[in-house]
Amino acid sequence: MITVESLEFRYAEGDFFLHIPELVIEARATVAFIGPSGSGKTTLLNLIAGISLPRAGRILTNDVELTSLDDGARRDFRIRNIGLVFQEFELLEYLTVLDNILLPYRINPAMQLDQTVRDRAARLADSVDIGDKLNRYATKLSQGEKQRVAVCRALLPDPPLILADEPTGNLDPNNKDRVLDILFAYATRTGATLVTVTHDHDLVGRFGRTVDFRDFHASVRRGAVA
Ligand code: ADP
Ligand code: MG
Repeated sequence: MITVESLEFRYAEGDFFLHIPELVIEARATVAFIGPSGSGKTTLLNLIAGISLPRAGRILTNDVELTSLDDGARRDFRIRNIGLVFQEFELLEYLTVLDNILLPYRINPAMQLDQTVRDRAARLADSVDIGDKLNRYATKLSQGEKQRVAVCRALLPDPPLILADEPTGNLDPNNKDRVLDILFAYATRTGATLVTVTHDHDLVGRFGRTVDFRDFHASVRRGAVA
């Protein structure tokens, strides 16, 4: 479960301001974040993930108050609890597909990288039809293949929360559906919560709930007038 209360966030530069009086996302929910470009969708994902901190307010992610943890504790929490899928994939180009998928285990000494994990990574890759490309370098993949690697990397540690930032951006319609199929199948199988930023109106209907960021900005305007 994610709880956001009286959140206020500003970047060090610029005049962007995000104010969210209250937002509760139940465990196991599937939620689409929608709203115009620049309305703060990525900013909120980063706050929920503990990558950035608000100026005021509280954020509880999986019932842990991230705002009370230091950088290191937030990072550990993130690695164990959150599968992040970035729009730009953020694969390491000098690594193979398999090593990219195994990355969370490589960078976190507390997570044991053994043969069981390697086997699971291979099965996950198989399930999204990139099992024959495990030894290929990330530079030699199509966009759709890269995105599937990014999804496998996010899912391998079995996180209870998936935060996916426009995971279907830059993909053709078949690959869009496919990436969402993988995320939804994972969420259904494991009971994970799935939060996805999307611009694709065709895909929004698949989610149990929609959070429209225009509402947050409307409340700021009302607040300014009052
Ligand atoms: P969205 O994901 O909804 O398109 P973002 O959360 O990325 O929007 O950005 C919200 C606003 O914050 C935008 O106006 C953007 O330009 C601004 N912004 C994003 N990152 C930074 C940053 N590091 N410093 C200053 N402003 C930023
Ligand atoms: Mg964004």
